[in-house]
Amino acid sequence: MSIKAEYLGMPLSIDALDGENLAYFQHCAAHDFRLQLCPVCNLLRYPPTTACPWCMRAEASWVPVEGKGTVHSYTEVHHAIQPAFKAFTPYLVLLVDLDRQKGVPSEQEALRVVGNLTTPAGTLAPPDMVQRVGIGTRVRMVFSDVAAGLALPQWTIDEDAEQPPPWRYPQE
Ligand SMILES: [Zn+2]
Repeated sequence: MSIKAEYLGMPLSIDALDGENLAYFQHCAAHDFRLQLCPVCNLLRYPPTTACPWCMRAEASWVPVEGKGTVHSYTEVHHAIQPAFKAFTPYLVLLVDLDRQKGVPSEQEALRVVGNLTTPAGTLAPPDMVQRVGIGTRVRMVFSDVAAGLALPQWTIDEDAEQPPPWRYPQE
């Protein structure tokens, strides 16, 4: 079964053959963040894929993972390539190090999950919120519902976390 949906007026689809992404986004649709755990080397992997990047085994089970982490890097978009995003500029694309499995299997590694900065309700963040986020910001996962069987994992500021001063690119 494939999924076809629309997000901000843009078509999104996941092909029936893409079992890993169908499963991943179906868990997201239930606001349940899960990643594949390899039973052989006991490591999680992201993005969803057919084989373990560490030991190449295909077997995996979907396990719940807490959606909390730290901004590893970001892009602040001022010129939207997609017209649908124009109304939301400037917006942030975040690369977030999950707390789970950070520094494993080597100290430089982490499960780095991409998403936009959104409000707690899952809509793209307003400019005053965008300015408060940078490298080091503690964030938590929220979901933007798109269609039956499809929600996008996104990031919002973790209001309960102690926040270091975020590192931001110098502004003009
Ligand atoms: Zn493995």
